[in-house]
Amino acid sequence: MIFKKKNNSHQLSMYFCIRIMENACFISKNLIDWYESNKRYLPWRDTYNPYKIWVSEIILQQTRVIQGLDYYLRFIERFPDVKSLADADEQEVLKYWQGLGYYSRARNLHAAARTIRDNYMGTFPKDYESILKLKGIGEYTAAAITSFAWNLPHPVVDGNVFRFLSRLFMIDEPIDTQKGKKYFIELAGKIMGDSKPGLFNQAIMEFGALQCIPSSPNCQACLFSTNCLAYNRQVVSNYPVKQNKTKTKDLYLYYFHIHWETFTYIHIRKEKGIWQNLFEFPLIESEKIIKPEELIKNFIFPEFITTENINSFRFIIQNRKHVLSHRILYATFVEVFLKEEPAIPESVIRIREEDIEQYPVHRLMEYYIEKQINRTRENGIQENGLFPEL
Ligand code: SF4
Repeated sequence: MIFKKKNNSHQLSMYFCIRIMENACFISKNLIDWYESNKRYLPWRDTYNPYKIWVSEIILQQTRVIQGLDYYLRFIERFPDVKSLADADEQEVLKYWQGLGYYSRARNLHAAARTIRDNYMGTFPKDYESILKLKGIGEYTAAAITSFAWNLPHPVVDGNVFRFLSRLFMIDEPIDTQKGKKYFIELAGKIMGDSKPGLFNQAIMEFGALQCIPSSPNCQACLFSTNCLAYNRQVVSNYPVKQNKTKTKDLYLYYFHIHWETFTYIHIRKEKGIWQNLFEFPLIESEKIIKPEELIKNFIFPEFITTENINSFRFIIQNRKHVLSHRILYATFVEVFLKEEPAIPESVIRIREEDIEQYPVHRLMEYYIEKQINRTRENGIQENGLFPEL
């Protein structure tokens, strides 16, 4: 059977509803059969434990499976259940999250574990509405937990599902709007039916991840090739449709890796945001780029550093790009060698250089530590005449 579409407008929801009802069993059964023979082995698929499913779903948001796998295994080994996570210190949880980015996920996971411990006697709530109230859990994650753990009929719609369904039916509804999300959730729900929600959700996501991939899917070998509207009209690359209204802003970060004897200086990021409660070097933030010569000429350094106290400094990394959903960051790292111990403000902590890896840091700091500090450790700190003098 081939799904027919009258035109490109998404105002065909009634028409689609009828077509979907007619073909839901066909799509659902084929997806599940395909999944049984093609699925990847992943540890969180081996369990009905809602805690483990929850942790895996949070890790896999914004993270590729291959990268998330190691993190998942280490996280579950250290925090095997709600109680162990709830009882842990937030800094330790962040340390286990280090490198995954989007640290609010870890903070929310930790906060929600405490809610489950305190309000539900440590037992994961089973109903969708209670799960949705937990910090950091949206419709997608609540649907994943309830369908995978208890086989409840809540459709899980991630990027893979958006892509597959939008191509299969040539849906022009943008996927990055509330209206679009609702549309796709309803559509997935209609196809899913009530018999095997958990299995169906796993199958449709895996199909999008392995077969209906973002670029150049192998449509000829696809079990839906005769049904897929986008393939039959040769417009696969046009789907899914996005409105793309998110505007990104540039932000320039100037980090100062300060040395005095065997010490360096860090502070904890207190402001609300993705890097809250992570450690980093003292920094200057600017919405405009500051050229190295400007930085030196106008002495744009942290306040507790004075020109007289600087022995030497050098630029280690300049304008390293780091893309976040609403911001593009450009990080510059300046290494500074001081003559005397500085008088630091309360917000800054003096630590031994060798202890820096004990502190949870964000991706940019981690990058710098890997590249620079480890290299310096191997070669020894080299202060030499190449450093520009003030
Ligand atoms: S035919 Fe191609 S575009 Fe259509 S569902 Fe299959 S892989 Fe995706």
